[in-house]
Amino acid sequence: MKKDITTFGEIELSKKLLQAVSDMGFEEPSPIQSQTIPLVLEGHDVVGQAQTGTGKTAAFGIPTIEKIVDGSRHIQALVLTPTRELAIQIAEEFNKIGKYKRVKTLPIYGGQSIDRQIRSLKFGVQIVVGTPGRLLDHIRRNTIKLENVKTLILDEADEMLDMGFVDDIEAILEQLSSEDRQTLLFSATMPGPIAKIAGKYMNNPKTITISRENLTVPLIDQVYYETREKLESLCRVLDVEETGKIIIFCRTKKGVDDLVASLQARGYMSDGLHGDLSQSQRDRVMKKFREGKLEILVATDVAARGIDIDDITHVINYDIPQDHESYVHRIGRTGRAGKKGVAMTFIDPREYRQLKLIERLAKTKIVRKALPSFADILERQRELIKDRLLKTLANNKFADYHTIISDLSAEYDIVDVAAAAVKLSVEGFKEKEEEATTVISSKMENTGGSPGMVRLFMNIGRSQKIRPEDIVRAFAAEADIPGNIIGVINIYDRFTFVEVPEDVAERVLAVMHKNTLKGYKINIEPAKSR
Ligand code: ADP
Ligand code: MG
Repeated sequence: MKKDITTFGEIELSKKLLQAVSDMGFEEPSPIQSQTIPLVLEGHDVVGQAQTGTGKTAAFGIPTIEKIVDGSRHIQALVLTPTRELAIQIAEEFNKIGKYKRVKTLPIYGGQSIDRQIRSLKFGVQIVVGTPGRLLDHIRRNTIKLENVKTLILDEADEMLDMGFVDDIEAILEQLSSEDRQTLLFSATMPGPIAKIAGKYMNNPKTITISRENLTVPLIDQVYYETREKLESLCRVLDVEETGKIIIFCRTKKGVDDLVASLQARGYMSDGLHGDLSQSQRDRVMKKFREGKLEILVATDVAARGIDIDDITHVINYDIPQDHESYVHRIGRTGRAGKKGVAMTFIDPREYRQLKLIERLAKTKIVRKALPSFADILERQRELIKDRLLKTLANNKFADYHTIISDLSAEYDIVDVAAAAVKLSVEGFKEKEEEATTVISSKMENTGGSPGMVRLFMNIGRSQKIRPEDIVRAFAAEADIPGNIIGVINIYDRFTFVEVPEDVAERVLAVMHKNTLKGYKINIEPAKSR
């Protein structure tokens, strides 16, 4: 048996490539890389099957670039890929790998001006990465010449199949001379038509499969939340989580649009990605997300397929994935390159069995987690305030305010002064404070409720699609009271009256005021008597 390769140095690569790979921060080859690269260098056709995030791009990129003949300005390798995003991504990675060898890779895709592409091609590039339709267009116009192409790579072959590119792919394969051509095919799954293409156009291919067992990365925390109010629960989780870059998956395009609208309305920096968007819209969204100007990317499976962004902190399944493969695929986008990632799945109680099935088939553990409580949210807000205070302290630009504090410190406790200062900065100055519980109590004496009950007024209603069960559920969960002690609920367009027993009224007010219900921030107070 061959000894396992554990460093790039053990593969016969030129110094220029080794240096480039090391610049990219790759310390050791991933399994698909250590198995594929030597075979490709030896000239074999290779079929590689491994999920997203396993490093397939470099697995075919490194040997392909190694084999490019220096000094020639002909196109020597062609990569077919399903989407524009992927074409750009692969070209970027190739250009990094080929940095010292000065191998130029150009992405080519539909939606960009063909004239501009023709001009870029004229500069002389050795590798072209593109979507099949646009590549075929260039081949037919003779603006891409194939006679020097020695390597053909099909990346995400199953996805190209799903997107209806099979005929285009075959048309391109037919145009290439089969003699000294090397063909590499990469795919997460191997459906029949792909296996057929491999059989027909490949020459004795070696098959490398990275088994599913090695897939789920131990660095990913996998949890699920069971809830009937996904939107509200999601918002809560977003409010307490320490987040960076988040991808949220929805089942449908409409689901993406709806969720983006809801999140944006609530002030989350989010945008959506799906097949109906124009190329330039997609580009804009991806750019913002990459640069961190967007915290949340909401996407369908297809739109997000293959997208590679390094530092995704959270993958959130807002809709449960259809099967375990899709689950593994989705969550594989976080926890990359040794970084820690979190995968969260929101399920409706009816979806519990589906979740358990996914868990079993994916051979993984998805742990139940309780939704953050109001106290957790408060705690998080405190942390954020503390954080900002610490940064202000670190900046050390507050000497102007020293005299104020030292004046006050003669008369007041310094901790009180500091607390008041924080309150002032967080809440702003209020001439008249909303009075605390004692006054509320007196307000509660005459609210027009039934005997023994306090009638509460809430500033949301039918316009916010509030239903009685939403209120019962929220009050019960937040104030920890049994739902069946809640009395009459009257929902109007813009407000709602709810009766609760006197002895829990204080608690309900304390807990629900400024809390959220179905994602809406609410004000709640004792009702005025009728
Ligand atoms: P795939 O095509 O299998 O989905 P990619 O080629 O997009 O995976 O690689 C996923 C991520 O892992 C990329 O950010 C890539 O730069 C990184 N990566 C690839 N190979 C290595 C390696 N050997 N060491 C560290 N990171 C790697
Ligand atoms: Mg890939």
